[in-house]
Amino acid sequence: MKQHIFLASPHMSEEGYEKEYIKEAFDTNWIAPLGRNVTEFENEMVHKLGGSRAVALSAGTAAIHMALKAVGVGQGDFVFCQSLTFSASANPIVYEKAVPVFIDSEADTWNMSPAALELAFEKYAKIGKKPKAVIVVHLYGICAKIAEIKEICDKYQAPLIEDAAESLGTVYHGRHTGTFGDYGIISFNGNKIITSSGGGMLLVNTEDAEEKANKVLYWATQAREPAPWYQHTEIGYNYRMSNIVAGIGRGQLKVLDQRVQKKRYIFEYYQKHLGDLPGISFMPMPQDTYCNCWLSVIQLAVDCPVKPKDIMQALEEDDVESRPVWKPMHLQPIFAECDFVSQVQERCILDEECGADSSISGQIFAHGICMPSDTKMTDEDLQRVCKAVRKLWL
Ligand SMILES: *Cc1c(COP(=O)(O)O)cnc(C)c1O
Repeated sequence: MKQHIFLASPHMSEEGYEKEYIKEAFDTNWIAPLGRNVTEFENEMVHKLGGSRAVALSAGTAAIHMALKAVGVGQGDFVFCQSLTFSASANPIVYEKAVPVFIDSEADTWNMSPAALELAFEKYAKIGKKPKAVIVVHLYGICAKIAEIKEICDKYQAPLIEDAAESLGTVYHGRHTGTFGDYGIISFNGNKIITSSGGGMLLVNTEDAEEKANKVLYWATQAREPAPWYQHTEIGYNYRMSNIVAGIGRGQLKVLDQRVQKKRYIFEYYQKHLGDLPGISFMPMPQDTYCNCWLSVIQLAVDCPVKPKDIMQALEEDDVESRPVWKPMHLQPIFAECDFVSQVQERCILDEECGADSSISGQIFAHGICMPSDTKMTDEDLQRVCKAVRKLWL
């Protein structure tokens, strides 16, 4: 019987590292809330990635929320955010009653266009406004032009938050993503490159990292003041990671490099076995970057007779999971009122059904497909996927 092939599913270490850390937590009855696994997980992450401080939290979304609070985002503030992303990048802006302004992508990296970002700064400067923060994403593990984006943010003195939820293990010019922005965030959700069963981490890279990390710890533990009774002067959150969850995360971190290698192997396999099909192209691999290839994404040319939905349907019929590219935030009904800044001036609707437009992010959405990228896939599985796709070209 054929087995279901997942897009990306949890993959615990063959060595059982995760169980050992959990066992230790059980043996010491350090089940909750904090404990050694949490602090060690934070230390090990800083050791692996560089940067100053890390705070383990209940989700990547919580980490973005805390980053926004740490830079002082509040009611009515503007936050520039990459449009092509998962909604969790943008939702915390609204939690703080701030106003998202979405920025288009570029073809080179599929991530935030430095040109569009510059346009947005100029546009808002004209009305005497400046964003309180900028959120850039390394989508699917592809590096954004982070040095250029950082330079623009520095020029306008806007703090930079790097959403590295999908790019753990991705390296830009020798340095890990998540360590360039004032804040970086990682996710350990079940479908990410490593998972703690659910969780996230905030990387604090500011000069006052110690102070900022402590402030985040305070907010994330219900804003409890150091008094003998329960004393609160601010609104708090229950955002800390548990010691059990951190144990799984520690075990997974040990196999991160292995997972990245396998993800890259999967991407190369698709390039090799599908690359000759007319109309297919692959997600960009910017120079001097090392991509974790979290998901392998392909694009179909506008004039390609095979459409993304044909591929997704063919795969589904073979019990293989695939997915459309993230629908850009500026095209989401919930954000319909928000401003969107693009270097593409005259935009039109490309597809009435899904709502894709002719912005760069809209085109990537309209023509892209996330291929199964599960690290447990065998060569036979990969062969099966490629066979199902190739049939459409016969
Ligand atoms: C997964 C993801 C998040 C949110 O992480 P959670 O841990 O699921 O809250 C944020 N941004 C991007 C780009 C993601 O893919």
